[in-house]
Amino acid sequence: MSRYNYNDNNYTDTFIYRNCGMTVPPPEAGGSHRNHCPHSLWSLHVDLKKGDRRCGCRGLMQPISVWVKPSKEWAVIHRSQSCGFIRTNRIAGDDNEMILFRLAAEPITMLPFPAKDTLDKII
Ligand SMILES: [Zn+2]
Repeated sequence: MSRYNYNDNNYTDTFIYRNCGMTVPPPEAGGSHRNHCPHSLWSLHVDLKKGDRRCGCRGLMQPISVWVKPSKEWAVIHRSQSCGFIRTNRIAGDDNEMILFRLAAEPITMLPFPAKDTLDKII
């Protein structure tokens, strides 16, 4: 086990993620590099372009929502807590499904208008 070096985007070791303290395994064989913790779904703002590790921000990136692409593939929307930068990242097969579900359901549980009135118009 080693500490994750975010300058190394081809790591193969297990590491302890700095945000949640959980152990993160390397990507499955044949997969691409991992860009967020599968337990907490948090990430770090380290890329200017995906995978280049050239960004000096290094701020924690909070998972704020999900995006369902036209291909039906899900992506996590991350926002840097340091600079506000927003980026989408593909989900992985071992990502925490409960957190993904919460991110997807959160907007519908916090509607800024009365749900009943809107439902009456739709149905
Ligand atoms: Zn940032």
